[in-house]
Amino acid sequence: MHHFQYKGNELYAEEVAVKDIVASVGSPVYIYSHATLERHYTAMDEAFASVPHTICYSMKANSNLAVLKTFFNQGGGVDIVSGGELFRALSAGVDPKKVVYSGVGKKDDEIEYALNTGILLFNVESEEELDRIDQVAGRLGKKAGIAIRVNPDVDPETHPYITTGLKKAKFGINIERSLEQYKRAAKMANLEIIGVDCHIGSQLTKVAPFIDTIKKLKRLIEGLKEAGITLQYFDLGGGLGITYSDEAPPLPAEYGTAIVAETKNMGLHLLFEPGRNLVGNAGIMVAKCLYTKKGDEKNFVIVDAAMNDLARPSLYGSYHGVQAVRKDQQETIVADIVGPICESGDFLAKDREMPAFKQDDLIAFMSAGAYGFTMSSNYNSRPRAAEVMVKGDSFFVVREREKVEDLVRGEKLPSFL
Ligand SMILES: *Cc1c(COP(=O)(O)O)cnc(C)c1O
Repeated sequence: MHHFQYKGNELYAEEVAVKDIVASVGSPVYIYSHATLERHYTAMDEAFASVPHTICYSMKANSNLAVLKTFFNQGGGVDIVSGGELFRALSAGVDPKKVVYSGVGKKDDEIEYALNTGILLFNVESEEELDRIDQVAGRLGKKAGIAIRVNPDVDPETHPYITTGLKKAKFGINIERSLEQYKRAAKMANLEIIGVDCHIGSQLTKVAPFIDTIKKLKRLIEGLKEAGITLQYFDLGGGLGITYSDEAPPLPAEYGTAIVAETKNMGLHLLFEPGRNLVGNAGIMVAKCLYTKKGDEKNFVIVDAAMNDLARPSLYGSYHGVQAVRKDQQETIVADIVGPICESGDFLAKDREMPAFKQDDLIAFMSAGAYGFTMSSNYNSRPRAAEVMVKGDSFFVVREREKVEDLVRGEKLPSFL
């Protein structure tokens, strides 16, 4: 459940009419519901209330400072994948001891930044990265907390582009080689082994792959014990799916019950890295219809948002619900909703039955809070959209719409021109 509902014919974000936000801020615009963000965090947190745990929100899903601060106020930390994300998280006031750092390509300066910040741990994704973190920590006279991201070779049964835990994936260290890498890490002077990590994919709609993963990692953890390596943290990654259309993923409570049952005797502090589950249905993107067009074979609704604003449909063929901001049109059409970008892949909805939108109608793209704004770009020199957070009957611009001047910031003409 989320707080984007109709009152009469008018779509509201909490107590604010969406049309009022657009009248003030323009379109396209991302709108986040503070109450929904809090609710989703609370649901996840309560699912693990019976065991020691920390929710390290995977901020690549939505890294707006106001979204981050909402979760930090509730006691959350972050899962970061770059130095830039660390900077954002610190800007929003994260507790460094609640930061975990994942990603296959950590650079020296990023490792240094994280060590100087005093983050909880690095989720190490390769053998060479172990050596590199040891070296950088040694240079700084620090000890780096580490977990190995283990690739358990479990099929999460989701979209191939967001499957990360199969043998052929670039992520993590193969489970068969993990024990020997832990033993190698144990001999490194500047590393402190404190955990084990996994993240098998995104938009999972079943609990079973998570449980299969835990069962596999338990065997590894036994092997570690025998080798005299004891852990404190078990990072289970993120990946719990949401409803975009008719998917029925487990609720956080159900996911929690299953995981707690499987891990409760291990004596480890659990870490979670949910992204989409916390923010996906806490945000919408609103665009305005510029033109409608009847092709020979298709109807098109041309809007002022494009694949640069919401990339998921063109990138993964993803589905976002389409709703009229004002529900006064009874007639429906089957159409594609497309943007102004000069690419045939620039669509937001395809062959979809929808209200017969006309010029100047506002259209809401639902479930756009995750991997929406964070994946946006300036392609076609389009300034990026504004972001708004609604709380009760008020709304706040939490990121200004970019201006055309922002597009050329940092560019310079060489003297020979
Ligand atoms: C992207 C990512 C997540 C979050 O995935 P969701 O499906 O959004 O929950 C968690 N951990 C890692 C390492 C990731 O790369």
